Amino acid sequence: MDELTTKQDCVSAFDAHHPPSNEIIEKCVHCGFCLPVCPTYVLWGQEMDSPRGRIYLMKVAGEGTAEMTSNWVSHFDSCLGCMACITACPSGVDYGKLIEATRAQIERNTERSRGEKLHRRFVFETFTRPDRLRQMRWPLLAYQKTGLQAVVRRSGLLKLLPKKIRAMEALLPKLGPRETVAEVTPPAGTKRRRVGLLLGCVQREFFPQVNAATTRVLAAEGCEVVAPREQPCCGALLVHAGEEAAAVELAKRTIEAFERANVETIVTNAAGCGSNVKEYGHLLRDEPEYAERAKVFAAKCKDVSEILAELEPRAKRSPLKLRVAFHDSCHLQHAQGVRSQPRSLLSKIPGLELAEIPEAAICCGSAGIYNLVQPDAANALGDRKAELIAPLKADVVATGNPGCLIQLQASLARHGWKIPVVHTIQIVDTSIRGESVDALG
Ligand code: SF4
Ligand code: SF4
Repeated sequence: MDELTTKQDCVSAFDAHHPPSNEIIEKCVHCGFCLPVCPTYVLWGQEMDSPRGRIYLMKVAGEGTAEMTSNWVSHFDSCLGCMACITACPSGVDYGKLIEATRAQIERNTERSRGEKLHRRFVFETFTRPDRLRQMRWPLLAYQKTGLQAVVRRSGLLKLLPKKIRAMEALLPKLGPRETVAEVTPPAGTKRRRVGLLLGCVQREFFPQVNAATTRVLAAEGCEVVAPREQPCCGALLVHAGEEAAAVELAKRTIEAFERANVETIVTNAAGCGSNVKEYGHLLRDEPEYAERAKVFAAKCKDVSEILAELEPRAKRSPLKLRVAFHDSCHLQHAQGVRSQPRSLLSKIPGLELAEIPEAAICCGSAGIYNLVQPDAANALGDRKAELIAPLKADVVATGNPGCLIQLQASLARHGWKIPVVHTIQIVDTSIRGESVDALG
């Protein structure tokens, strides 16, 4: 507890703009049920790196008996924001709202080192900008296709680079052709719904095959799919990192783009984006012109597995002889409460066998930008997950978030395990198109 500085005047360490809610903090009864599912507690066994410890740190800062020292901040930087503690908590503590508010306070009221600031700026200015990711695509593709990546990796040159740059290089997914999605894709047969597709940033540029598969499956199931061209980043990475003001602006532009598209449902296929857009009502609560529109927008958002679970299957599924290990993305299972729908979607494919990964509640270490800013902890969690997947002898791993896809691919590759990792919808698409399982890589 030596990081806690006692203050005589007991002035809150937080500013007045949405400090972490006391009402939520007081709901915590310190039972500890959340500890075994908290990845950082599992790794280090330290109370202050558990949900209960972090809630205590928020409480003392709010009461003015602790300051936001660098040590205090480090316990929040190490949190993955995975929300496993919310699922585990019997008292209904909404830790998501607490960590979001705390991180925004940290970014407004504490100073990061110059190196950290530069690194974070690079990450935000790149991964929230599809146009910049697109510009990076071709040099990165050349780096992979010419064999330069293999040479550089073998040469040991990477060891000379800073750890966070090495982490970025190690996480680079294998890039393929850039499939684009039409602005409007007509439904097969009678139209059942007009849906909007949130394209994402990393998904759009590094996993375009996932958006293409999502569009094909939705169209095959009778949806007219609209992918507004002018949609920006939804702001998920920014919200989860405490960059509230920038996230609010992106949320407004996203709402405007989908209002113009006039759709009944907004489909997400990146769990991190999905959990963010479903919370727009909360994010924009102080914006008179947008508060109500944000609630309407959020109520329309569904993960692709949710909407497909609602629609009685129309397209024929061809058999796939495939053993699939299903990985629950934290932002799908904990933040959105979506667990049964992707499993049910996969189990409707004849011949497909589902394998459950042990410790499903625990994060793989991806968590937005976590594997870029906290590479050691992320690698330890990735290794743990890879070691649980390997004995399942699965042909493929399926998941619903590009971040998990990248993290699992890198973690399995580190061990030399060549198991393809794909988005759940790619398997459904392969079955509907009657393609061979080889198409999954
Ligand atoms: S969000 Fe995840 S890492 Fe953070 S306290 Fe909760 S369980 Fe632990
Ligand atoms: S499970 Fe809920 S109430 Fe219990 S310690 Fe964790 S956050 Fe607090």
